[in-house]
Amino acid sequence: MTKLADLHVHTNLSDGTFSPERVVEHSKAKGLDAIAITDHDCCKGIDPAIITGRGLDVEIIPGVELTAELEESEVHILGYFIDWKNVPFLKKLDEIIKVRNERAKEILRKLREYKIDISDEELFGLICGGSVGRLHIAQLMVRKGFVRSIRKAFKKYIGDRGKCYVRKFKLSPKEAVDMIKDVGGVAVLAHPNTVNIKDKNTADIVSLLVKDGIQGIEVYHSEHKAEDENKFKELAEKYNLVITGGSDCHGFGKSEVLIGKVKVPYELVERLRELASKKL
Ligand code: AMP
Ligand code: FE
Ligand code: FE
Ligand code: ZN
Repeated sequence: MTKLADLHVHTNLSDGTFSPERVVEHSKAKGLDAIAITDHDCCKGIDPAIITGRGLDVEIIPGVELTAELEESEVHILGYFIDWKNVPFLKKLDEIIKVRNERAKEILRKLREYKIDISDEELFGLICGGSVGRLHIAQLMVRKGFVRSIRKAFKKYIGDRGKCYVRKFKLSPKEAVDMIKDVGGVAVLAHPNTVNIKDKNTADIVSLLVKDGIQGIEVYHSEHKAEDENKFKELAEKYNLVITGGSDCHGFGKSEVLIGKVKVPYELVERLRELASKKL
């Protein structure tokens, strides 16, 4: 039987709700042979996942998801087969996390102007030693009855066009790609549809990112329709990019537990591994 992988999974070391151990248990239950742990700006979930993965025979691909900014739009860049113990790399992630902490407090300050009162302690009480993000804030907004859904929280308040949006660590796409390549990883554009730049379509955006050194594109994703997949596959062929796919599971942080909703053939993992090893 073909082995299957989910190459985009978050744990509670960023804005997922499951611990790395539970993520691996879920993956096993969903029939996955391999998963990539891709927390936002954090690698602390990788080692515990590897340990559980050994016991359950689930391979863990070390990954990360970095946020870059291109013409005022967020661009998420996944890194695969990174050296997740590299000290200068981890120092940079720590710096980014510090900026995230300050940004989160600034978002809470802005929310208070709209009578949405969430204390810093309530927010940081949710953090399990990794990175804080807007999804944590959205969860508290729902839990405390300020909004009816996470979607509303983003749309009205904390989304990129919301009243209380605060930008985060400013990394250019090239800087994010280089950070990943410097630790032996393969840099992949995540969920291309979420990059929104005036007067530029996805093809224009991908062509810019290729110049910045991007090596792959996330073709399969929980929120992609068949037409998106076809469009991104064509771009992958045009620019000789590796294809990846994953659920972008955040545990209960999204409307459903998505792990295993996107399963890609293991040969895509092998292509990523090959590409990563070429540069070493
Ligand atoms: P941050 O890293 O703090 O900027 O938060 C980004 C995360 O927020 C993404 O990875 C998603 O998990 C989540 N997110 C962003 N926009 C939305 C949205 N409109 N609805 C739900 N979740 C969102
Ligand atoms: Fe997230
Ligand atoms: Fe993302
Ligand atoms: Zn993600």
